[in-house]
Amino acid sequence: MTSESIKTAIVTGGASGLGYAIAQKFVQQNIRTIIIGRNEQKLQQAKETFGELCTYIVFDLTNLAGIPALVNHIVEAYGRIDILVNNAGINMKKPFTDVTDEDFQQIILTNVTSVFSLSREVVKTMLPHGSGAIVNISSMTAQYGIPKVIAYSASKTAIEGMTRAMAVELSPLGIRVNCVAPGFIATDMSAKALDNDPERKNKVLSRTPMGKLGTPADVADAVYFYATEGARYVTGTVLPVDGGNSIGF
Ligand code: NDP
Repeated sequence: MTSESIKTAIVTGGASGLGYAIAQKFVQQNIRTIIIGRNEQKLQQAKETFGELCTYIVFDLTNLAGIPALVNHIVEAYGRIDILVNNAGINMKKPFTDVTDEDFQQIILTNVTSVFSLSREVVKTMLPHGSGAIVNISSMTAQYGIPKVIAYSASKTAIEGMTRAMAVELSPLGIRVNCVAPGFIATDMSAKALDNDPERKNKVLSRTPMGKLGTPADVADAVYFYATEGARYVTGTVLPVDGGNSIGF
């Protein structure tokens, strides 16, 4: 493959959990991958593992004002962006009445507003080429009601609506937009939510027909499908990767 035909992807939160597996899959498939996060040490470690095709940028995505310059910098360095995976996200488990306005806003800012701002700036750079693929990451909280994650549920439900709204507006211009809805996948984030709450963990497993948590690689394979040629006629969809959790009894 010539260097001109190598695609360039951004994976937010690509130094850990699902994002790490997504970045790993992309690099293995010869996609130049830029991972973004706040923790330089984690990013550096991931870059060292992934090698030449991976670059990292330390950036806090809640810094909305800095996003246009971030995207300009990426385009100047790599020419164009073919794929954007909006994976970075935060969760917070608290009873409904304990959630402060600040808590709620922080989740929405990270999981929704920054996804919008980054997507808008990246789309501006994709439009002249008439092509691109955006993959958003939702969750089971957008499929059914889960207690103690009110802000997270609001954010992920917004992501699914935004996926459809972006798809109808951008697909005629050559940019496909889809969403992966992971079920319960073994990462640091899910460990925080499940490991000290055996009742919740049992409930998760008992309504998952495949009877186990997923792995980050399970999600990465679905994201890779959406991001590449195999999904050339697929847009505006949400794919649960959940061992059947969303349809479990
Ligand atoms: P992790 O906590 O392992 O990873 C989250 C990543 O997001 C980190 O790399 C973190 O990097 C990055 N991030 C968070 N906030 C910011 C920010 N303000 N700016 C830049 N980067 C940020 O979580 P998961 O891998 O489990 O989750 C990834 C995505 O998948 C999330 O959107 C999550 O909601 C979703 N998801 C996960 C599920 C699961 O079971 N694990 C289930 C359903 C959905 P850093 O700390 O360096 O900033």
